Amino acid sequence: MDKKLRSSLIKSKASELGFFLCGISRAEHMDEEAARLEAWLKKGLHGEMGYLESHFDKRVDPSKLVPGAKSVISLAYNYYNQEMQEDPSAPVISMYAYGRDYHKVVRKKLDHLFDFIRQTYGDVTGRVFVDSAPVLERDLARRSGLGWIGKNTMLIHPKKGSYFFLGEVICDLELEYDGPIDDFCGTCTRCIDACPTDAIAPQGYVMDGSSCISYLTIELRGEIPPRFEGLLQNRVFGCDICQDVCPWNRFSVRHDESQFKPVSGLLQMTREEWMDLSEPVFTRMFEGSAVKRTKYEGLKRNLEFLKKK
Ligand code: SF4
Ligand code: SF4
Repeated sequence: MDKKLRSSLIKSKASELGFFLCGISRAEHMDEEAARLEAWLKKGLHGEMGYLESHFDKRVDPSKLVPGAKSVISLAYNYYNQEMQEDPSAPVISMYAYGRDYHKVVRKKLDHLFDFIRQTYGDVTGRVFVDSAPVLERDLARRSGLGWIGKNTMLIHPKKGSYFFLGEVICDLELEYDGPIDDFCGTCTRCIDACPTDAIAPQGYVMDGSSCISYLTIELRGEIPPRFEGLLQNRVFGCDICQDVCPWNRFSVRHDESQFKPVSGLLQMTREEWMDLSEPVFTRMFEGSAVKRTKYEGLKRNLEFLKKK
């Protein structure tokens, strides 16, 4: 079977599994991305995310991460949800965390896809990833033609927007490669102008991770620095502001993944209920959710921080 037909069958299977984008790129050293990552790390823009410094060689070369790999199959899974939190004064949680933890949901789909590849093409070696190893997922997806990396540093597809999770199958099967697409940010600066903490560089395309609300509310251990008091725009877990304002997200359509349905009662929680959140309620409500990552203490820290205005 030729590479073109193989690639097309893999893409059909990906679509059948619910992925709304699938593209393929060559597994090779990523020269430009390596230089950019090195400069970003040197400036300390990764804050306390020291894990981003480790496994540099593997991070910038999927053929080192998965020895012998020839292809990266990049996949996108929609999580856009039109439902909003009902109390406008309630602390805001990022849309991606409304339902069941995406790592589990997307991982299972990737496993199915890789099983299909092995059953169809025989002895294929590889691994699947979803935010789970030193993988430059956005850069790989850009190389696979899934979108361009916008000034807000998110991957944007001209017909789908940016509310999607990324995952990859990296394997030693030769496939037909898709090229990157153009950058359509143009003269727009909406995300830069809207970012409450000025985490996006004035010219865009570079993010000070250590100032991003997603980092401050999820990744950061210890106290949130006082200089961010009054700037979090009521965000308690993650931040979608630079995606919400992006004009390309007018094309976003609601996901149809039942496991991403908002946790029961989550969108109805009032500000008072959030502020009084107890550990048993946290445990019950966020069982199986990405919000568990902060642990109860982390979420409480964020809630307390929001009171400082
Ligand atoms: S996620 Fe929020 S804080 Fe981070 S860059 Fe975007 S708008 Fe700024
Ligand atoms: S808001 Fe504008 S500048 Fe920012 S990523 Fe979207 S299109 Fe690009």
